[in-house]
Amino acid sequence: MALRKALFIFLLGNLYRTKRVEKRRGRRYKNFMTTKKERALIVLGQLEKLYPETPIPLNHKDPYTLLIAVLLSAQCTDERVNKITPALFKLADNPFKMAKQDVEEIKAIIRPCGLSPRKSKAISELSKILICKHGGNVPQNFKDLEDLPGVGHKTASVVMSQAFGHPAFPVDTHIHRLAQRWGLTKGKNVKETERDLKNLFPEEKWNKLHLQFIYYGREYCSARGCDGTVCFICRSCYPNRRRPVVVNKA
Ligand code: SF4
Repeated sequence: MALRKALFIFLLGNLYRTKRVEKRRGRRYKNFMTTKKERALIVLGQLEKLYPETPIPLNHKDPYTLLIAVLLSAQCTDERVNKITPALFKLADNPFKMAKQDVEEIKAIIRPCGLSPRKSKAISELSKILICKHGGNVPQNFKDLEDLPGVGHKTASVVMSQAFGHPAFPVDTHIHRLAQRWGLTKGKNVKETERDLKNLFPEEKWNKLHLQFIYYGREYCSARGCDGTVCFICRSCYPNRRRPVVVNKA
């Protein structure tokens, strides 16, 4: 009986000690909590260090060929788009020539990019609209760009940013994922994430940061699960992270 009592007291003591240690650790880790602004600075610094130069990944020679390349990149890799566009632009590299092409011929060339029926129709139609409404030029504003068939807000943002140098922060599913893993947003969709990133970073950094996020995602932070403790950015933003980060899908 006395032995059982001693064992019980010993276990209770151990439990008490463990709880105190955990509490102390909790307090210590709390001191390492970073604010969103601090995390943004860590991200900014590390991305600038890793990617001081940010060449545009899609091959193009002017706003029109960039617009077509970005449209083709929906649900397709940039690498594949770059393999397809030389043949497409050999056929037609401006809206006047493209508008004269048979949709079936465009479709046959762009088939490896996926969604070819929809994309070929959009390429043909938007080329005709550019001629009728914009004198064959790509418009330099969001409204007219987003009115074009096959052009959503993300495509318009890429064109505004990379063709015309207008400040924009195009957010796709990859940027949405990174921004959540780095604690820069709790956005439920790309729209909310874009709003949060624009509030967090200075406007003059948006265009470059978009590309830096893309490069980082490709090289280090893929869509596959990660416990969020491997890279410098996560370790600096969340030194006390112990559980895998759960992200909202776009
Ligand atoms: S630790 Fe994981 S989640 Fe964080 S940046 Fe690296 S790959 Fe991405």
